[in-house]
Amino acid sequence: MRYTETKEQSAELLRKVLTLLGQHDAPFHPVSFAVWYEFAAGTNMRLTQGIERAMQTEPRLTDATVVRLYQEFVAEVDQEAMQRITGELQRMMTGMSESASRTGEHAGAFGEQLSGLTEVLQANDAPAIASHVAATLASTVQMQSSAQELQAQVLAHRQEIQRLQSDLVRARDEATLDPLTQVLNRKGFDRMLASLLDQPPSPDSAHCLVMLDIDHFKKVNDTHGHVMGDRVIQALGEVLRLSVSDKNYSVARYGGEEFAILLPHCTIEQSMKVADTVRQRTKAMKIRDRRTQQVVLTVSISGGVAAMQAGDDAQDLIARADAALYKSKQAGRDQVTCAA
Ligand code: GH3
Ligand code: MG
Ligand code: MG
Repeated sequence: MRYTETKEQSAELLRKVLTLLGQHDAPFHPVSFAVWYEFAAGTNMRLTQGIERAMQTEPRLTDATVVRLYQEFVAEVDQEAMQRITGELQRMMTGMSESASRTGEHAGAFGEQLSGLTEVLQANDAPAIASHVAATLASTVQMQSSAQELQAQVLAHRQEIQRLQSDLVRARDEATLDPLTQVLNRKGFDRMLASLLDQPPSPDSAHCLVMLDIDHFKKVNDTHGHVMGDRVIQALGEVLRLSVSDKNYSVARYGGEEFAILLPHCTIEQSMKVADTVRQRTKAMKIRDRRTQQVVLTVSISGGVAAMQAGDDAQDLIARADAALYKSKQAGRDQVTCAA
């Protein structure tokens, strides 16, 4: 469970959320509630920054923006990681508030000591002055040590909060990465494509999509087993990652033995070139037996390339790239085809 507030704390947040909901244009659905709840709770720093950035151009956030913020910063964080992180934060906050209240108690006692000392000084009562000075001195020491304790704790916790913050970023990235190949998974791909659909391409360019599929992969599994099949998928993932490492392209494992490359602000010619380079590098890939180092298999891939057109949604673009990929398969595989 990522929300650990008590009923009273959440009632307080609810009041804030209702105000925030009223200040923006998105309807009052659970997605916008979750966004404003986490904003009000202050538990999601990336979300807070995202909201602040969005509000610079859109002071009243629209439904589309709130949904995007939800998808980008609220949804899909691994529940276990979230639970651990909020648990650690709570533990730290409890420690801090205990130290702060101890400092506060000492400060109260110290204040009393000082006013007592003032009184005896005014009364000019020498024996009482001596004992009050001694007590005040003791309080000063106590006060100093509890203030130091609080200061040390604040410093230590600041570092810990920074670590937790990077843990959160990592947890979110892990939710969109394919563990076998370390490229985006389908969720990450969908998210990336959705955000591209919102951006108009720069002049003389288009957002392009390359779909790639390993040829006769079923035979690889049947002949060499699934473990070897997985190694082929892994190796292709690496070829893809290296092929786009110096570009702003995104690689995703679309499913099984199928991969996708998203090329923002690109041309169909450039995309064809990228796809064909990957095809050639894949063909040159030699999968070796780990023990004997003998080459046991090579594979080829087929590709389809499509450019986003005005009015396209994600499905339209994927369908065109898929149709082009199908043509490559029909024409004998180990080739890349451009969508009609
Ligand atoms: P084509 O050239 O037409 O693409 O033929 P294909 O055999 O590659 O196509 P098909 O879709 O018939 O088979 C894909 C195979 O990929 C079937 C499935 O068992 C295998 N596969 C899917 N995901 C994985 C995976 O994660 N690991 C392994 N080892 N195999 C997988
Ligand atoms: Mg396939
Ligand atoms: Mg295949």
